[in-house]
Amino acid sequence: MFVSDFGKIKQSFKTELIKNNIEFEEGKHSENKILNTDLIVKSPGIPDKAPIVQKALNKEIKVISEIEFASFFTNAKLIAITGSNGKTTTTLLTHHILKNAGINCALAGNIGESLARQVIEDNVEVYVIELSSFQLDGMYEFKADIAILLNITPDHLDRYDYIMQNYVNSKFRILQNLTSNDHFIYNADDPIILNEIKQREIKAKLLPFSINKTENMVGYINNNQKLIINLKPELIMSIHDLALKGKHNVQNSLASGITSKILEIRNESIRESLLDFKNVEHRLEFVAKVNGIEFINDSKATNVNSTWYALESMDKQTVWIVGGVDKGNDYDQLKSLVKEKVKAIVCLGENNEKIKEAFADVVDEIVETNTAFKAVEQSYRIAKKDETVLLSPACASFDLFESYEDRGKQFKNAVRNL
Ligand code: ADP
Repeated sequence: MFVSDFGKIKQSFKTELIKNNIEFEEGKHSENKILNTDLIVKSPGIPDKAPIVQKALNKEIKVISEIEFASFFTNAKLIAITGSNGKTTTTLLTHHILKNAGINCALAGNIGESLARQVIEDNVEVYVIELSSFQLDGMYEFKADIAILLNITPDHLDRYDYIMQNYVNSKFRILQNLTSNDHFIYNADDPIILNEIKQREIKAKLLPFSINKTENMVGYINNNQKLIINLKPELIMSIHDLALKGKHNVQNSLASGITSKILEIRNESIRESLLDFKNVEHRLEFVAKVNGIEFINDSKATNVNSTWYALESMDKQTVWIVGGVDKGNDYDQLKSLVKEKVKAIVCLGENNEKIKEAFADVVDEIVETNTAFKAVEQSYRIAKKDETVLLSPACASFDLFESYEDRGKQFKNAVRNL
C-alpha cells in the first residue's frame, strides 16, 4: 500500500500512516511507484483529466473511488443517495430517522468519516451514503441495497466535456449491479430521470415519488396537503408538520420516508423523526428576525436550480442576495419567480454584470456589494418589517470567500451584529 498526495498531508494522518507502516509521499506523485500498481483509489476531487490519472488509465490500471473500495469490506446494507441537489439534506434526514428507530447506522460518502475508515471496524448495520457524480464515476462493482436519485439538473458540466448526457450517465451509475431484490427510489417529477428510465432496463424494484401527481406513485402529496407513502401500513402525515420547509424538502422527505418504510420502521417513529429533524446549516437556514425582518441563509445554493426552490418557498416580499462565481448559469429560469417575489437584488460577487443584465427589467433596485457585511447592511436598509432577506447565491463562493460555509458564516455573523 502506498499513499501519494500532491498537496500536504496533515500531521495527524502522517502519524497514523507511520503507525500502520504505510509508505507515503507528499508534494509530488512518483510515477515509478504509482504506475506500478494494480489498483488506484482516487480522491473524487481529482479529475480523470489529471495527467497522472491519464497515464494510469493508459496503462490499464484500475482507478476506483474510495466508496467502491470500501464497499468490498462490509456486509452492511448500503443506502446510496445522489442527485444534483438535496443529497446532504436527504442523507442526514434518512440517517436521523434510522437512528431514532434504533437502527445501528452511520453516515458516509461526502459526509462524516470515510467509509473506508469505518468498515475497518464494520459493526454497523446500515450505511447511509451521500454520493456525488465524481464518486460514482469511479464505481463499477459497487451495489446499493437502496438507491435514491433525487433530481438531475445541469451542474459540474466542466467535468463532463460540457455534454449533459455524460453527467446523466454518471448519476445513473447509482443503479449499477442492482438486482430484483434491491430498491430504486426516484423523483418522478424530473423529466430527465423519467426519460432515462425509459431507455434502460432496470432490474430493481421501482419506487417513484412525486409532489405533482398521485397515480402509480409510492410517495405523493394528496389534495389535502397530506404526504402519503403507499407501502403497507400506509404512512400519512400533513406536509405542514414536516420539519423541513419548501417543496424541495417535501421531495427529500418523501425519499427518506420511502427508504424508512422499506426498512420496516414504524410509521409513528418515521413521523416523529420527520417532525423533529433539525435543518442543516447553510440550507434555507433561519438565522434571525431583526425588527420584523427575517434573515435566511441558503449559502449552499450554488446553482440555479437550488435557488429556484429557495425563491419558490418564500412567502413574503424578499430582498435577494445573489452572486459569486457563475458556473454557466441560465438566469431566465428564475425570472418569473423573481418578478413575483423579489423587491430588490443585492449582488454579492466580484463580477455581477450577468445578474444585473438578467434582472434589470424585473426588479426596481439592484445594488452591488463585495462583502457579506455590506450585503447584509444594504439588505437591512431596503427590507421592511414582515419581509425576508434571503442569501441564495446560485453561484460558487470562491471569488470573495473560502467556501460556501465561510460565506454562510460571515452572513450569519453580519446579521447577528445588526
Ligand atoms: P447537495 O448535497 O446535493 O449539494 P444539499 O442538501 O446540501 O444538497 O442542498 C443544496 C442546496 O439545494 C440548498 O440550497 C438546498 O436548499 C437546495 N435543495 C435541497 N434539496 C433540494 C432538492 N430536492 N431539489 C432542489 N434543491 C434542493
